Amino acid sequence: EAKARGKNTYRFFSQDLNDAANERLLIESQLREAIRDQQFLLYYQPKIDLSDETLIGYEALIRWLRPDNTLVPPNRFIHVAESTGLIVPIGEWIILEACRFLARQHSRGYAVSVSINLSVRQFNDEQLTATIERIIQRTGVDPAYLVFEITESMLMGDTDAAIKQLNQLKRLGVSLSIDDFGTGYSSLNYLKRFPVDELKIDRSFVKDIPEDQNDMDIVAAIIAMAQKMQLRVVAEGVESEAQAEFLKQNACYLVQGYYFSMPLAEQELSHLTFSIKTQG
Ligand code: C2E
Ligand code: MG
Ligand code: MG
Ligand code: MG
Repeated sequence: EAKARGKNTYRFFSQDLNDAANERLLIESQLREAIRDQQFLLYYQPKIDLSDETLIGYEALIRWLRPDNTLVPPNRFIHVAESTGLIVPIGEWIILEACRFLARQHSRGYAVSVSINLSVRQFNDEQLTATIERIIQRTGVDPAYLVFEITESMLMGDTDAAIKQLNQLKRLGVSLSIDDFGTGYSSLNYLKRFPVDELKIDRSFVKDIPEDQNDMDIVAAIIAMAQKMQLRVVAEGVESEAQAEFLKQNACYLVQGYYFSMPLAEQELSHLTFSIKTQG
């Protein structure tokens, strides 16, 4: 009986693997089509400053609009784009598109920033700084309004190479943010060595505020540490007034989350009611 079950398990398992491999191949060929036919778009989630209730920037978040009109979220395809290397051309499109968006915002007098997520492959690409520099020149944006988000895991392998890459990026005049902070393995000692400007507290620590005292202690500690290290601190995934209030009480004024706004298509941003920081 055990043997029979073993055999079944094996067949079942290898079938699963096959399905996963086929699914990956399918997504890969569809992604190539998506690049060719420009099926990607960026949504923008407002970043709010609670100290004066103004909208100070947006995070660009990719979506894939399939020909059948389904909108595919990034966690369904970014990993395939990453493992096939397709993230490099897709990522370049993301940076260009986000910079064009930024240029349009600035031409309306809005002094907003835009945050762009980088993937591992992009971050490890030696051409990254040159690519960004070219896009900055082409679009004419002020790099002071560009933020690049990386994750702790990207910094943990070859730290010297990571520091070199971060320094090159910094020389462009952009700022750097550590996304999903607290979920990786970066030690504080490492953190000190990386030329970053901002920490984004991961949503998982925010979601159970104000019920979970542990999470509240962790969040308060991250905020205090960020202040000591003179880093900007942003909380992501804020979904309730109580969470916003807790963050404000603990002097974390920069927030993003559904409580303020979902990520929106550019043409929907005009419906937002926040006052937007303006130039000058
Ligand atoms: P992330 O960079 O940490 O982005 C935050 C994610 O949380 C977004 O999901 C956003 O829609 C979602 N979110 C924002 N506020 C709330 C909230 O109040 N509650 C909840 N439950 N969720 C909230 P999204 O757009 O599906 O993106 C997921 C992840 O995919 C991102 O996490 C990022 O790692 C990756 N991603 C998204 N866009 C890009 C991109 O352009 N390039 C790369 N390389 N990765 C991207
Ligand atoms: Mg992000
Ligand atoms: Mg994040
Ligand atoms: Mg996250």
